[in-house]
Amino acid sequence: MAVIVQKFGGSSVADPDKIRNVARIAIGEKERGNQVVVVVSAMGKTTDNLLKLAHEITSDPDPREIDMLISTGEQISIAMLAIAIQSMGHPARSFTGPQVGILTDNAHRKAKIVHINDSVLRRELNEGRIVIVAGFQGMTMDNEVTTLGRGGSDLTAVALAAALKADVCDIYTDVDGVYTADPRIVPNARKLDRISYDEMLELASLGAKVLHSRCVEVGKNFNVPIHVRSSFNLVPGTMVVQEVKEMEDIVVSGVAYNRAEAKISVLGVPDRPGIAAKLFGMLGDRGVVVDMIIQNVGSSGLNDISFTVSKDDLTEALKIADEFAKETGAREVISDRNIAKVSVVGVGMKSHSNVAATMFKALAKNNINIQMISTSEIKISCLIDEKDVDVAVRAIHDEFELQEAVKS
Ligand code: ASP
Ligand code: MG
Repeated sequence: MAVIVQKFGGSSVADPDKIRNVARIAIGEKERGNQVVVVVSAMGKTTDNLLKLAHEITSDPDPREIDMLISTGEQISIAMLAIAIQSMGHPARSFTGPQVGILTDNAHRKAKIVHINDSVLRRELNEGRIVIVAGFQGMTMDNEVTTLGRGGSDLTAVALAAALKADVCDIYTDVDGVYTADPRIVPNARKLDRISYDEMLELASLGAKVLHSRCVEVGKNFNVPIHVRSSFNLVPGTMVVQEVKEMEDIVVSGVAYNRAEAKISVLGVPDRPGIAAKLFGMLGDRGVVVDMIIQNVGSSGLNDISFTVSKDDLTEALKIADEFAKETGAREVISDRNIAKVSVVGVGMKSHSNVAATMFKALAKNNINIQMISTSEIKISCLIDEKDVDVAVRAIHDEFELQEAVKS
């Protein structure tokens, strides 16, 4: 008998009809002889609406109370699903995160799971029930309710799958898997049958919104196979799994893009040791996360440093860069919000040459200028003008022939 953890997001439980659909999927899995745990998010936009409500009272609500408030969203959907499953004649029971022993640290609104006591889950499964668990929430050692950060239900599901040593964690969503590129931009993008955790982590952090990156990390650390699939059909989706040797035969698995960053350049910086340490130290101390960095070798003892930050952090980062410029006598600070990052990801890069050249060729053919480049073992990213993103993604996808590659 297999243990299966299923997760359904807010759009899959948005109304009673959709909840009935989820109930049927869970029952189907149970009737195939499996033990089933279902994790659900809050219905539709409930979490957003609850947050809005609090902000109508104050712009600075207490994080503990916010957790108390937004954890109610999932409590509604678990009860609704239990009612639906029971109405179809199957035993089911709903539980909050605290009730099934999801223990977290004290960081309200972004708590980390520290332990899961699986005894309640085991007992319920052994009694033959479908067990429904509220996503996105847990409890501290002092019995305080916490939430795991926006989109945290994925994490609940994978963590429960790890605790139960489940055979698979099915993440049901409104797309039917992970694609070689965003199908809205690349109509001939191909669904991947499988992808490694590391590739999925890169894609998630590069802007592919299919899976929460912390859930992929937990999946990797506990070796939980994650199946990304559609809640509207039962066609197999994409398996996120441990890297195996044959994956290296495929040079590039996917192309990702991200419009969420902005670029800052500090021009005419004195060229001496300690300058970069100072600038990035100031940014880091004030919580600004820097992504790409480039330093031009200048002349006459001066150079230019450019870097990218999240658009949300741009105002703060500019303030810091201005302070830095004043303190060091740098000439000027400029910024650009109209940039985007395109990236290729693939474990096969480790053993193939020319990947970067192929990517640059695709951009060159389309006259797209590269402003910055960064690489990791399994990723190459180029910063380009935002207006070129769609063309760039399509060109790179074509150049690597991703629509034809065979991945099994
Ligand atoms: N309901 C929570 C949110 O909207 C958790 C989730 O959907 O995964 O962020
Ligand atoms: Mg959600």
